[in-house]
Amino acid sequence: MAYQVTLIPGDGIGPEVAEATRRVLDASGVAFDWDHQEAGIEAAERHGDVLPEATLASVRRNGVGLKGPITTPVGGGFRSVNVGLRHSLGLYANLRPGKTIEGVQSVFDDIDLVIVRENMEDLYAGVEFDTGTAEATQVIAGINAISAKKVPDDAAVSIKSITPGGSRRICEYAFNYARSNGRKKVTAVHKANIMKFTDGLFLRVAQQVAAGYPEIEFNDRIVDNMCMQLMQKPAEYDVLVMPNLYGDIVSDLVAGMVGGLGVAPSGNIGEGVAVFEPIHGSAPSHAGKNEANPAAMILAGAMMLRHLGEQAAAGRVELAGAEVIGAGERVTYDLRADRDPSKAAGTSGMADAIIERLSA
Ligand code: NAD
Repeated sequence: MAYQVTLIPGDGIGPEVAEATRRVLDASGVAFDWDHQEAGIEAAERHGDVLPEATLASVRRNGVGLKGPITTPVGGGFRSVNVGLRHSLGLYANLRPGKTIEGVQSVFDDIDLVIVRENMEDLYAGVEFDTGTAEATQVIAGINAISAKKVPDDAAVSIKSITPGGSRRICEYAFNYARSNGRKKVTAVHKANIMKFTDGLFLRVAQQVAAGYPEIEFNDRIVDNMCMQLMQKPAEYDVLVMPNLYGDIVSDLVAGMVGGLGVAPSGNIGEGVAVFEPIHGSAPSHAGKNEANPAAMILAGAMMLRHLGEQAAAGRVELAGAEVIGAGERVTYDLRADRDPSKAAGTSGMADAIIERLSA
């Protein structure tokens, strides 16, 4: 029976990499019944909403979504559709593997890390007050009435909130992931030396959760030190669990260590619902030119196959992708050693090469 999956192509390069991925997954030996839905600027123009209820209802109904990147205006306009999607669907865990792929130029050649990022709390929750507004003035007055440390009257304010429940849920997810995927170690990443209450809480909960998984080694690192150690001795780390903002930054660092955003997939996981997507954004300068690298979204498709229990098909897609990348010929310009666009394959041509391997 075919899997019903919500397909949200997104905007910018999204529709091109999404179509390439759909074709590869359709050739994986697993049958899909794609439920096409919209989100982003075009959805706003057509439905008056950047994140239409029909799109959310489709993901809830199907339990699984595959999503292309969606543009977020900087500093104004609408709030991030990606953040909205995570909150509306309760996608509390962001899973970001960082694994070396043969043939991809990268600084390191033996990386196998998994970042588990809390996806809904922290400074990312969107509780913000702009400088000079009545709301900011009220919030600052309230803080200054009870805090020994004062906030300047004209400050813009973002609230960092971390809960025991949110921390427990993400830490348990990380340990369960480690247990069911044969991983040996979990490292909690934080800044509890400075943010003693918020990050201190996260660390305390991580230590409590770790006690329930004696077979898995546990340690913790302060986020700045973590970044340095990832550069110096990445082999010492395995699964890293952390609050939202550090997860955002550290996972891009790890993506850079294995060859960049072009090959970095992710999964957003909730209770009974999950949405898979590439880490990269909508890359507007490449949009509509059939030149964007589809590998990250194809790898997100392989993560989705694993989530559906289709391990063999996921392995086939990953292997076919790695073979095409390793051969270095029918790949997009960014994956070529010479980066010569005149010799490179387009987005659809690279998908064709992967499909041919799958069918061979
Ligand atoms: P970006 O990932 O779109 O681009 C960063 C750099 O990588 C650019 O040079 C771009 O050309 C290149 N790049 C990215 N993906 C590529 C691909 N598949 N093939 C070839 N080159 C690729 O990041 P940005 O420029 O910071 O963001 C652009 C827009 O995307 C913003 O509106 C941002 O908010 C949004 N964004 C969305 C998501 C998401 O939907 N999950 C994630 C990140 C950024």
